[in-house]
Amino acid sequence: MAENQNEGSKFLNSVHRYFDNAAQYSSLSPGILAQIKVCNSVYKVSFPIEVDGKIEVVEGIRVQHSHHKLPSKGGIRFSMQVDEDEVKALATLMTFKCAVVDVPFGGAKGGVKINPRTSSVKTLEKVTRRYAAELIKKNLIGPGMDVPAPDYGTGSREMAWIADTYQALKYGETNALGCVTGKPVGQGGIRGRAEATGLGVYFGIREALADAELLQGKGLEGGTMEGKRIIVQGLGNVGYHAAWFCQKDGALITGIAEREGGIYNPDGIDVEEAFKHRNQTGSILNFKNCKNFENTFDLLEMECDILLPAALENQIHIGNAANIKAKIVAEGANGPVTQEAEEILLKNNIVILPDLYLNAGGVTVSYFEWLKNLSNVRFGRMGKRAEEASYKRLVNAIESTSGKNMTAQEKAILTKGSDEVNLVRSGLEDTMINAYHEIRDTMRQKNIPDMRTAAFLTAIEKIGVSYEALGIFP
Ligand code: GLU
Repeated sequence: MAENQNEGSKFLNSVHRYFDNAAQYSSLSPGILAQIKVCNSVYKVSFPIEVDGKIEVVEGIRVQHSHHKLPSKGGIRFSMQVDEDEVKALATLMTFKCAVVDVPFGGAKGGVKINPRTSSVKTLEKVTRRYAAELIKKNLIGPGMDVPAPDYGTGSREMAWIADTYQALKYGETNALGCVTGKPVGQGGIRGRAEATGLGVYFGIREALADAELLQGKGLEGGTMEGKRIIVQGLGNVGYHAAWFCQKDGALITGIAEREGGIYNPDGIDVEEAFKHRNQTGSILNFKNCKNFENTFDLLEMECDILLPAALENQIHIGNAANIKAKIVAEGANGPVTQEAEEILLKNNIVILPDLYLNAGGVTVSYFEWLKNLSNVRFGRMGKRAEEASYKRLVNAIESTSGKNMTAQEKAILTKGSDEVNLVRSGLEDTMINAYHEIRDTMRQKNIPDMRTAAFLTAIEKIGVSYEALGIFP
């Protein structure tokens, strides 16, 4: 992490400044803009947990940034760094992220102060279930209210525990499985969700590389992924899958930075092998044919085409921004570049593919999962007509999110129900391509030089339309 003086507040400040930059281009009234910016509600909770016969107090929080569309949506983070401002910043980003990819949700985020790496599975289960129960008992989460998902430090296992807790406490509720997304496939999840964020990152980078106008004068030969040198920070769910898909399409993963240090090889590192090596040895260091970097941050400053921060916020800050040599910074993580650092990167002619667009693949596929859960069916186990109706809802959702009609072949796959993952991936691909071009059009129309401001602006305008159409209660 960068120097530790309240990272959460710095993050929230950055998000607010990004918002303000974009809001200058909007013709919405100052009152509506103020409402779009603030977090609608914050719920904090402390609860006891017994660990090895001792009682520990655990702190949790759920922030719902916007209710302009329901449910609100966003992951749950398990980390000792969780604080109110951090979660507020993340919830805020979720609102704009959903709007950028036309997913009809408000934004939210949750956090629990716990270290998932040093806690036993039993403790994690207790904490997850108790945290979920605290939210359920206040009616804060539910399929039509607020729907959590995985984030840093959580995954499908935790989502299954949340779904089970919800079903236990809301016994018999229709559509109960839609109370959380990112579940295991056998527990109401959807195929393709696990890799969705990383795959979306890949689609976004691929689009940018094909965009000669964007890359003009940036010192990078565009075109395809072939031979592009990528340094990735974080080999978690997002970083691993993003790097994997880029590598599969011809990129060279020349560096992998993790919390214990980094590895570098200008000829490319096999991501899958490096991942296995880290699992086996407990460290990314000492991987074959690679140079070790004891200080993981030094690796981010190495020469490369694309720097892919896919871990935590505030990683590129005022202290290291001037040393970044990448031509593109691709934000797999939420908030990896501070607002001050962004100014430096842009001045140095570096293209930033912003988080609210680039990592929106996760929530896009969460939307598909949620729709599948709402139909309350297990495909393949019900009457033909009802099954067709529920598949139709999924087709409609995929078509309206991606803005493209599905081909007969794609629909055939869907009605057979045999290849959900291909369907999900093609819906995700179209979504990422459409959102990319929408942002680029906004850049041209409003003469905005950077992608983040344009992405925020397209989101703000869409949310503004909702507020104006809904009116103000009472
Ligand atoms: N935590 C992920 C994000 O930051 C996914 C959220 C979701 O699927 O609801 O986008």
